[in-house]
Amino acid sequence: MEKEIEDMKDETCIFCKIANGEIPSETVYEDEMFRVILDLGPASRGHALILPKDHYKDLCQLDEKVAARIMPLAAKMGRAMKESLGCAGFNVVQNNGEEAGQTVFHFHTHIIPRYENGPAMVSWTPKTAQPEELKETGEAIRKALS
Ligand code: 5GP
Ligand code: ZN
Repeated sequence: MEKEIEDMKDETCIFCKIANGEIPSETVYEDEMFRVILDLGPASRGHALILPKDHYKDLCQLDEKVAARIMPLAAKMGRAMKESLGCAGFNVVQNNGEEAGQTVFHFHTHIIPRYENGPAMVSWTPKTAQPEELKETGEAIRKALS
């Protein structure tokens, strides 16, 4: 619990500083809750990050009121990217934990424009699930939720 409170007030967090305007960024949208910036290491032209102004380490810590506004904002950004950049579509990506590819531990959502004939991204090789394995896995998750 102490660690969680410490995380909420992280004064060394670079995304806290960017989101609150202490460090300059290429900002494409801002309101009282969020700043949307262009990624410094873009996967494609227009790759943007939705940053909440308050610090949450990841999705598990995220306040529900903040969470409820993220998908509508992602849609707004995607529509603007299609109109302004001519992308054919876009991915909404959000990493939680080092193993999942999270490198900055301030919750953020990637909006990645996708262009015709662009490279493959955000893909995986599907395995074939066995019915018994699905059942066991489902039971484990349902138990954790109950
Ligand atoms: P993650 O891997 O944590 O999901 O994504 C972090 C993203 O933040 C990466 O795509 C990286 O390029 C971007 N990034 C890291 N530091 C900065 C920064 O100082 N400014 C901006 N605009 N993007 C950053
Ligand atoms: Zn932060």
